[in-house]
Amino acid sequence: MGFLRLLQAVLLAAAAAAAARAPAARAWGEEGHYMTCKIAEGFLTGEASAAVKGLLPEWAVGELAAACSWPDAVRRQMPWSGSLHFADTPGDCKFSYARDCHGTKGEKDMCVVGGINNYTAALQDSSSPYNRTESLLFLSHFLGDIHQPMHCGRTADLGGNTIVVTWYNTTKTNLHKVWNVNVIETAMNRFYKDDMSTMVNAIKHNLTNEWCREENQWAACYTPTTTCADKYAEESAELSCPAYVGADHGSNLEDEYFFKALPVVQKRIAQGGVRLAAILNRIFSGKNDDRIQSS
Ligand SMILES: [Zn+2]
Repeated sequence: MGFLRLLQAVLLAAAAAAAARAPAARAWGEEGHYMTCKIAEGFLTGEASAAVKGLLPEWAVGELAAACSWPDAVRRQMPWSGSLHFADTPGDCKFSYARDCHGTKGEKDMCVVGGINNYTAALQDSSSPYNRTESLLFLSHFLGDIHQPMHCGRTADLGGNTIVVTWYNTTKTNLHKVWNVNVIETAMNRFYKDDMSTMVNAIKHNLTNEWCREENQWAACYTPTTTCADKYAEESAELSCPAYVGADHGSNLEDEYFFKALPVVQKRIAQGGVRLAAILNRIFSGKNDDRIQSS
């Protein structure tokens, strides 16, 4: 990824300045990223957990989840990183790396799949010139982004950003934000006492019950021609198509849409967490997880 490499000097300077303070923006939204990374923390080996803690900025106080929104907070300071948060498609419910992984001006590899591959490779290579703290935070954040279906939505509406809708007749929002923030906040409010750890525990409970049979296959993905990240983007692109149904520009979304979206949101957060942990375990404990190697 030559383009990223060229920007490394800019990146390091900006990151050094930005890493000095905690992110302020609430931007998945902040909750989605927090939960994805919190779930990942629970699946890390002791060795990987220690390595992750060693790389975290001081302000994260040893908690990966606390730092997972950092790439959103510094997006304006690092405009080149903007296209690494998503991988939009023409709207055919499919993701194709060759066709879809590029920046807004066609820069090759500048999409969320390229970002995940790049920062995974950077962390795996101890001689890589990339800043390791920053590589960890980008990788952890992008694992969240790639699982949010509207981050692999249609290019024409910027992944739902230009589709303005109302949420329960009260909040003016857009379809991208509905998936980033509104569904999660409504769920927290209705079912989880506005408490993120209660929602994280509910998702963890599903992992050991409803999803327990499929969960051990989530991290299995390598094929001779694609990487894991290709598969995650393909899944999101497929999930984005039904997400557009019943959500036209100007519409009002409420229970019917919310109850259709919530199980998808919860499962994607769980998958993002489990897969992030598998990647970090592979990088930091040299553990070649059988689940990743198989199939
Ligand atoms: Zn993002």
